[in-house]
Amino acid sequence: MAQQVTDAIVTTVAANLARVQARIADAATRAGRSPASVRLVGVSKTFPPEAVVAAIRAGLTDVGENRVQEAVPKAAAVAAAGESPRWHLVGHLQTNKVKSALALFSEIESVDSLHLAESLSRHAATPIQVLLEVNVAGEATKGGFSPSEALELADRIAALPGLDVRGLMTVAPETNDPEEVRPVFRQLRDLGRAVGLPELSMGMSGDYEVAISEGATIVRIGRAIFGSRA
Ligand SMILES: *Cc1c(COP(=O)(O)O)cnc(C)c1O
Repeated sequence: MAQQVTDAIVTTVAANLARVQARIADAATRAGRSPASVRLVGVSKTFPPEAVVAAIRAGLTDVGENRVQEAVPKAAAVAAAGESPRWHLVGHLQTNKVKSALALFSEIESVDSLHLAESLSRHAATPIQVLLEVNVAGEATKGGFSPSEALELADRIAALPGLDVRGLMTVAPETNDPEEVRPVFRQLRDLGRAVGLPELSMGMSGDYEVAISEGATIVRIGRAIFGSRA
């Protein structure tokens, strides 16, 4: 990639990251929570390794990708630059990519079927941290367990060897007004309580402050850190 493009990315990403971190801390404080109770995952899909390295050097510790095929070479380039963040998978995982996913990711946030959970369980050499993805709004275009399936299956999945089921994840419907999706975040929180799992991964660039006010413990932010995607 052209050097000027790279330089521009480095400058922008550091400033964006600082702004996002400050807004996360403010949102947590307003909700009466400790800023340390919210983890930031910077979602770098479509962005080059240089941008990831810049974000890590500016303080990002956790990086999210939604496709194994994109993440593997990117992680190799980031490692070659001397950086090793915790990689999170946030997109659908096909069972034929389970082995390569386990080799790279520290956390798999997008376990969206019993079949996938069983496959991860079979192949995990050491327990892998996972979240169950819930399609709270029931959108036809999105994967994930329905809330009732999550209720029904959480214990069974948590009992599988090799899995450390930490909580729930959701992708809220796209909206221009984040207040519109507050009920989605609230439902995920209630569901998390019902299944007794502590982590709630919810909130993206457009809605993370609302998600934090509803109890998000992980926010997954791409555009607000890395810029708009082509
Ligand atoms: C792309 C993506 C994000 C980040 O979205 P932004 O709008 O860029 O902040 C978060 N979660 C998942 C599952 C994604 O695919």
